[in-house]
Amino acid sequence: MTSSDELFERARHLMPGGVNSPVRAFGSVGGTPRFMVDAHGPHLTDADGVRYVDLVCSWGPALLGHSHPAVIAAVHEAVDHGLSFGASTPAEGRLAELVMQRVPGVERIRMVSTGTEATMTAVRLARGFTGRDLIVKFAGCYHGHLDGLLAAAGSGLATLALPGSAGVTAATAAETLVLPYNDEAALEAAFAEHGDRIAAVITEAAPANMGVVAPADGFNAFLSRTTTAHGALLILDEVLTGFRTGPGGYWGLTGAREGWTPDLFTFGKVIGGGLPTAALGGRAEVMEYLAPTGPVYQAGTLSGNPVAMAAGVATLTHATDDVYAHIDAASLALQDAVASSLDSAGVDHSIQRAGNLFSVAFGTSRGGVRNYADAQAQEAYRYAPFFHSMLESGIYLPPSVFEAWFLSAAHDDEAMNRIIDALPAAASAAAAA
Ligand code: PMP
Repeated sequence: MTSSDELFERARHLMPGGVNSPVRAFGSVGGTPRFMVDAHGPHLTDADGVRYVDLVCSWGPALLGHSHPAVIAAVHEAVDHGLSFGASTPAEGRLAELVMQRVPGVERIRMVSTGTEATMTAVRLARGFTGRDLIVKFAGCYHGHLDGLLAAAGSGLATLALPGSAGVTAATAAETLVLPYNDEAALEAAFAEHGDRIAAVITEAAPANMGVVAPADGFNAFLSRTTTAHGALLILDEVLTGFRTGPGGYWGLTGAREGWTPDLFTFGKVIGGGLPTAALGGRAEVMEYLAPTGPVYQAGTLSGNPVAMAAGVATLTHATDDVYAHIDAASLALQDAVASSLDSAGVDHSIQRAGNLFSVAFGTSRGGVRNYADAQAQEAYRYAPFFHSMLESGIYLPPSVFEAWFLSAAHDDEAMNRIIDALPAAASAAAAA
């Protein structure tokens, strides 16, 4: 019996499913979740002393690699001055300015503690600003666990094959229109029918919670044009993509070039460098509707926490062009290696990519995945043997086919070679499934 086995056995009597976030339970891949005790560079070490090359990167935050010396030093320095002041601090402004330099559409920002809070506040703000009630979301997009956005929500709900969540009232669910992703006609129809009631369209800048699904060329621009034409807001959820797919997030790769800007952005993960910080930001006119200047209430005991701000400032400061160039190149190299291993093993698949984010979908006859229906139709059962073969070889992948693979600036040649060497056996395991 391993230490992880023992810890999981105990945890099951302490926490529902033994975990504090569902996908960690290995529900769809089976086996015992590894209990981690250390994270440095591209590596995680479990309670049994096994060291893995990590392709989860804390689900995104560890852009620079785990325990980057500058981030750890900034956190130590902040901790020495106290953990939480319950008052404004200089570091909040520093992080705000770093965000605004990268994403000029952010004219005002509010720090919160989780991505869920950011999207929840953005939705309330959109309703408060427009005086309308309906929100449009796309099937397969995950925006956190707020009641109104759990319908067809991807991420752990896709992993556990749940259509939505128990505990959400019918009245709340009825205020969300769920549309197929990448489908302009469906959005036009929704606006034709309910245009004067739609407060906002919320979308992942590039969906990565049904596996990675790139927006079709011009899709986000279309969302921006359509919302503007109908007096609704566009909320671009960059919790996962923000400061990861490039200095300006996925918007920086698309909107900045195509000439559109959403009304509101949401950020999380990288912005806190591994500590609990997230944010929403956008047009000043909309953001000033938040209390205390405006009538839309939102608050947080630990919002703008000085230690989390220090981690965020250090992370964004060190997220240089070189960091993105490294991650982009590593991502391409890994995509090629995965594709050629699966090809050699005769496994039908598509590499799903958006910027430097990618995931693998099985049995899609190379047509690829364009929406949630495609994602659910794939041969997802091939992932569990693939995952476990990689784990046996010391590679820690996301424990679900519906999640992106995350790289960092710390994934050096040695780490990359370990991953690439492990792929042929995993591809054979997927072929045999
Ligand atoms: N939006 C997106 C796009 C996400 O990927 C996530 C989390 N994976 C969230 C929102 C919710 O963030 P959190 O888990 O910090 O609440």
